[in-house]
Amino acid sequence: MAVAAPRCTLHSAAVEPFLALCRAAGHAGFDLQVVSSFRDFAQQCRIWNAKYRGERPVLDRRGRPLDVATLAPRRRVETLLCWSALPGASRHHWGTDVDVVDGRVLASGYSPRLEPAEYRRGGPFAALSDWLGRHLHRYGFYRPYPRSGTGVGAEPWHLSYAPIARGALEGMTLELLAAVIRGAGIEGEAEILARLPTIRRRYVLAVASPPRMRSRWARIQPGAGTAGGADHSSRR
Ligand SMILES: [Zn+2]
Repeated sequence: MAVAAPRCTLHSAAVEPFLALCRAAGHAGFDLQVVSSFRDFAQQCRIWNAKYRGERPVLDRRGRPLDVATLAPRRRVETLLCWSALPGASRHHWGTDVDVVDGRVLASGYSPRLEPAEYRRGGPFAALSDWLGRHLHRYGFYRPYPRSGTGVGAEPWHLSYAPIARGALEGMTLELLAAVIRGAGIEGEAEILARLPTIRRRYVLAVASPPRMRSRWARIQPGAGTAGGADHSSRR
C-alpha cells in the first residue's frame, strides 16, 4: 500500500512498524527518507536489462565503473548480481524492504549514490547508519546485507521487515524462480537458468538472518497483511 510520508509503497503489515521507526528517527533528529521501496517485476526487469546492455552504469565488486559490453554473458550476469537483484528474486518485490537515506543531508543538496562509503564513518549518512544499527530491531527491521560476502555486496541502506520477509524468502524456491524467469524477457536468461541453483544460493539465500526481536513491532500486527489494509486507507 502507498504511504504518503515518507513516500513509499509497502506491504500493509510493514506500514505501522516502519512509520514507528520513522517517528523514532525523527525524535533522534533524523529525517528518514525512502529512496526505494516496493518495486515490481517489470521495473526490476527494466533495470536489469538496461544494465546488461550497458545503458545504465555498472560497478565492479570494488565499486569501480565497468564496461559490461566487454564481458562474456556469464561474467556479465555475475557482475550485475553483485549490485542488482535478479528480476523475480528482488526483496523489493515483497513490500517489506526499503532503501533509506537521511533527508537532512538531501536538503543540503546532496544526491545519494547508495554506496557503502556514504554510510561509513565520515560519510554523509554515517550518523543515521549508526542510529539505525542501534534501533532498527525494536521495530522488527534488520539489515539483510550488512557486509559484502561472496554474493551481494554490503547494503547498509537496505532495511527489511523481518516478520514478513522471512516467509517470503522461504517461498523463493528454485521451481518458482525458474517459472518466473523463463520467457519473461530478461537479458541473459539462458545463462541465468543454467546457473540458477548457484545464483539462488549465493545471491538470494545468502543474506543475514534476522536477529531475535522481542518488541511488539516484530510480530505481525493483527489485521495487517490482508488485501487492501483497510485500517490504513487514510494514508493512501
Ligand atoms: Zn534495496
